[in-house]
Amino acid sequence: MIVMKFGGTSVAEAERIVRVADIVRDRLDRKPVVVVSALGGVTDLLVRAIEASRVGDRERLEPTLADLERRHRWAASGAVERNDVRHDLNLALDAVFEDLRQLLRSIRILGEVTPRAADTLLAFGERLSSRIVAAAFAERGVPAAKLDAREVMLTDDSHGAAEPDLPGIRARCDELLRPLVEAGRVPVLGGFIGSTQSGETTTLGRGGGDTSAAVFGCAMGAEEIQIWTDVDGLMTADPKLVGEARLLRRVSFAEAAELAFYGAKVLHPATIAPAVQQQIPVWVLNSMQPDQTGTEILGEPACDAPKLAAVASRRGVCTVRVASKRMRIDPGFLPRVLDAFDRRGLVPDFVVSSEVAVTLVLPERDQIEQAARDLGGDVEVHVGRERAILCIVGAGLAADTEVRGRVLSALAKVEPELVGLGGSASSVGAVFPAAGLESAVRRLHREFFEEAAE
Ligand code: ASP
Ligand code: MG
Repeated sequence: MIVMKFGGTSVAEAERIVRVADIVRDRLDRKPVVVVSALGGVTDLLVRAIEASRVGDRERLEPTLADLERRHRWAASGAVERNDVRHDLNLALDAVFEDLRQLLRSIRILGEVTPRAADTLLAFGERLSSRIVAAAFAERGVPAAKLDAREVMLTDDSHGAAEPDLPGIRARCDELLRPLVEAGRVPVLGGFIGSTQSGETTTLGRGGGDTSAAVFGCAMGAEEIQIWTDVDGLMTADPKLVGEARLLRRVSFAEAAELAFYGAKVLHPATIAPAVQQQIPVWVLNSMQPDQTGTEILGEPACDAPKLAAVASRRGVCTVRVASKRMRIDPGFLPRVLDAFDRRGLVPDFVVSSEVAVTLVLPERDQIEQAARDLGGDVEVHVGRERAILCIVGAGLAADTEVRGRVLSALAKVEPELVGLGGSASSVGAVFPAAGLESAVRRLHREFFEEAAE
């Protein structure tokens, strides 16, 4: 069997839900289990509704709730044609929205949201989407079975970032999912949501739908996990910067992780780590172009894999150079600097340090000035704003000194302020003034990825 996960954009509206039904119907012979996110944007609306309730802001709450309800009613009436099915679905939605309103009202009265309450509220997105999708499937030739994901996804009680309990989930899968799959049914579950042993609702953290897919795939021993999204897969560069960017057919898990860290927003590999450990191939596929090949993410690089995978890039960083004014060796200097930024929630992308000075590449945020002040008077701090990171990613960088040499000399030509090699074996990163990023990315892409394609 396989797991097919459809993200928020793939189920954002009726027409797309119908398309998802077609995609699943074409793959019924592979015995799919379907995992869906909340309709695109809905989790953000729920976050807004929770916050508006907490501060008692009815003027913001009412339109947000109306928006939430309208989007689901609209999707339901567009994706479900049969009157009786639509009628039942609408009754179910009535009940769910009544619950949602009541919970939000109680938060407004209490003026406080506990992590447990927040999870209960956030879970409405996936509870609603899975119902609507299952109903739409049923009348389009997909023998769907709607399930409450919380009965299968058992987790610990760290609300907001709950940890799946794999042995527990495996037992629930054997009990609840496997018999359905064996009987030719297609279980439809919400991603992102779970529950503790005692039945309290939990969530796995934003973007957690991919984690759900990976965990269900592992628990079921799936042949394959498919992450359906709104792009063709991972690319050799950001297609917004480089018109010639190509789709990557296969990348290793390590390369995918680097790509995600340095800019590609397709998927967070940490979420699929359990699947990779279990050697289950993970595919990224486009639900708007279901016949495209997509990208396969493998545990290890394929033996015929190209040495370099992609050039990733990301804006919104700055360089912070901190120099000690003491002219003697100061052993506690580096930890002190890192700690000051860490306490402001700033995690560096790069660190280059010497005895008396350190340069950090940090996300561009206001807290940088505060952290610099925390360091006190015996350091000098210089902040370089509007920088960007570019990173060449490829498993070949670890093993092949010739490739590494070529990459470094090509990078030198685009005049970076800072280069980081070896932080991870499979990438070389460089930092530039943001204004020069686009031409640097194009140039490196041309040098390493366009000729190779010919
Ligand atoms: N709906 C959740 C979110 O928006 C989970 C997900 O889509 O993966 O974060
Ligand atoms: Mg997502």
